[in-house]
Amino acid sequence: MKTRVAKFGGTSVGSLERIRATAERLKHLHAESRVVAVVSAMAGETDRLLALGREVYPGISAAADREMDALVSTGESVCAALLALALQSSGVPACSFTAHQFRMSTDGRFTRARIRSVDGLPLAAALAEGKVCVVTGFQGTDERGNLATLGRGGSDTSAVAIAIALEADCCEIYKDVDGVFTCDPRMVSAASMIQRLSYQEMMELASTGSKVLQIRSVELAMKHGVPLVVRSSFNNKPGTLICEMNDNLEQPLVTALSHDLNQAKVSLSGLPASPESLSVVLEPLARDDISVDFITQNVGADGLMSITFSVEDKLVDRAVLSLHSHLPEGPNPQVERGLAKVTAVGIGMRNHAGVAHRVFSSLTNSNIPIHMALSTEIKVSCLIPAARCQDALQVLHEAFFGTGAC
Ligand code: ADP
Ligand code: ASP
Ligand code: MG
Repeated sequence: MKTRVAKFGGTSVGSLERIRATAERLKHLHAESRVVAVVSAMAGETDRLLALGREVYPGISAAADREMDALVSTGESVCAALLALALQSSGVPACSFTAHQFRMSTDGRFTRARIRSVDGLPLAAALAEGKVCVVTGFQGTDERGNLATLGRGGSDTSAVAIAIALEADCCEIYKDVDGVFTCDPRMVSAASMIQRLSYQEMMELASTGSKVLQIRSVELAMKHGVPLVVRSSFNNKPGTLICEMNDNLEQPLVTALSHDLNQAKVSLSGLPASPESLSVVLEPLARDDISVDFITQNVGADGLMSITFSVEDKLVDRAVLSLHSHLPEGPNPQVERGLAKVTAVGIGMRNHAGVAHRVFSSLTNSNIPIHMALSTEIKVSCLIPAARCQDALQVLHEAFFGTGAC
């Protein structure tokens, strides 16, 4: 009999009605396979718990991070127990497991812990007894037994880690969408479902803002060769298969678009035009663990250098503070908020030139200003005003997937 890991996101368990519907689906899966269900918290619950915690303790500290993890991880525990109860009530033997019980070991980096190991034995024993295991996603425990969470969207990564530990035959991620689309269907209604996608493309989509899967889940799946299926918990459509794909000349140039609405850029001008300037600016940011994305440097007619970089909007204040405190004599950073990043991703780009030009010309023809741009082997990203993000996605979708596009 096959072993299957099935992960259910917040919407799929967002109400008692959805939990019962998920139990019904698991009942069918249980008739044909050994099943481990991995659950997120009920939709909105993690945000609610985070808001409660922040109200009580608005600051930032390592001690508070520990308590925040103890707090938010309860969302998954509640959900696992409710789903196990729903299964039992429809006659399916089921048992819930929290991180302590199925021994998901992580490091002690609260709020962004990384998985060290999963002991598959407690789950394997329950499966051998014919039970459905209902497991908390998102949670782990560090070596001292403290609860630690895997970061937002971390249940996807829990599911893959459990599939690896159990050598499962498949890992399915159930969502409120039919699969991975050519663009977020909430932004472009013409978006269509993709049948197959490479790990590399999915990683680029996840890292440039698409929230369909947590990037670490895709990294882990790729490393261990676990095929992932993203499918709907609302219907029986087959969904999108994410797996290894060889380069294929017939591959479309662009496979999908992603967007990230929370971007800002920081500019510093009047710097000495020396090769060191860039590292002098980036060093304090690296030391303070602030990732920058787009970077440009430019020497003006006055012979001085200006450097511009983009960061996530929520990190911009920290970036400015870091520059001020490490470069007190340096120029004043200028900040521009309200930006978005739109990205076109496709392994087909490896074999074809001209995608970047097509992205830029489509945007400029629609009078969408491009603040910064970046092109790599399989992606082209542009930083644009957030207010024009939906327009930009629609224009690019039409250019690459519309009638007559290739
Ligand atoms: P879950 O709670 O199940 O983990 P998420 O809300 O994290 O689900 O992810 C599903 C959402 O991701 C969809 O509702 C959709 O709006 C969004 N999304 C963004 N980009 C895409 C895409 N390319 N294809 C499908 N969904 C996408
Ligand atoms: N409940 C957590 C979150 O909302 C983890 C997850 O859903 O994957 O981020
Ligand atoms: Mg998610």
